[in-house]
Amino acid sequence: MQRLAQKWRRAGQRIVLVPTMGWLHEGHLSLVRRARKIAGPRGKVVVSIYVNPTQFGLREDFSTYPRDLKRDLKLCRAEGVDAAFAPGDAEMYPRPPGAEFSTLVAEEKLSRTMEGASRPAHFRGVTTVVAKLFNIVPPDAAVFGAKDFQQAAIVRRMARDLNFPAKIVVAPTVREPDGLAMSSRNRYLSGDLRRQATVLWRAIRRAQDTVKEAGMIPAVKLKANLKRFIGQEPDARLDHVEFFEPDTLDPVARVTAGTRMALAVFIGKTRLIDNARI
Ligand code: AMP
Repeated sequence: MQRLAQKWRRAGQRIVLVPTMGWLHEGHLSLVRRARKIAGPRGKVVVSIYVNPTQFGLREDFSTYPRDLKRDLKLCRAEGVDAAFAPGDAEMYPRPPGAEFSTLVAEEKLSRTMEGASRPAHFRGVTTVVAKLFNIVPPDAAVFGAKDFQQAAIVRRMARDLNFPAKIVVAPTVREPDGLAMSSRNRYLSGDLRRQATVLWRAIRRAQDTVKEAGMIPAVKLKANLKRFIGQEPDARLDHVEFFEPDTLDPVARVTAGTRMALAVFIGKTRLIDNARI
């Protein structure tokens, strides 16, 4: 990948990277199309496909995370992707005795709240693998989804702090017709769980409507209301809901138009996240 990218770079071709964990869906493909727009017809679009073990907790779904490289490659080909980079664990995190992988990249401020509080070490795994990809590919730009809003903010901060020249582009969340944000983990939802999963989007709409009516509402009050609302679904359990400034991720005491909302909800055993502007 590094050699191929060097060749492209020497030929003056712009390289745009879309990092993914595979099991590609329309959300990923929207990022690929955005990448193509940025790269231009002569530029190169690279999709990385790698289920990164360092961003999963011990009791999380690393081993069951859906994988189908053949299907992913077919989708990439159909979108005109120039290279799919799908490394193995032994390449990304080599383990020869005495010379095993032992360097991590950690963002220390934005990573502490929300997803970072619920999933310790998650963002350290994300920044580590993204830093590696940025060194392997050297992209001129990299496209991330607003679906993982905190992740995009952390990657942007890492790129700035560590002087990665890549421009970080954030593209909007793609949703199913009933509002459920597309996610590889939606595959875990069968039967009534799929219906219950729309509660994340319904909670977002409820918050938006409340603020539209009231103008302002204390965050604690809205959180309590949403917790009750989400609890009405038999298999839903709120992990966290937060209201914050979109630029700094600092929590706000008062929710108004422009505040960002993010939430994580267990639907049965599946943990789903979503976020939106209020
Ligand atoms: P993942 O494969 O889940 O790690 O996601 C890879 C990239 O796709 C990340 O930048 C995600 O934010 C983005 N992404 C995932 N789902 C969506 C979606 N529904 N809409 C837009 N982007 C998404």
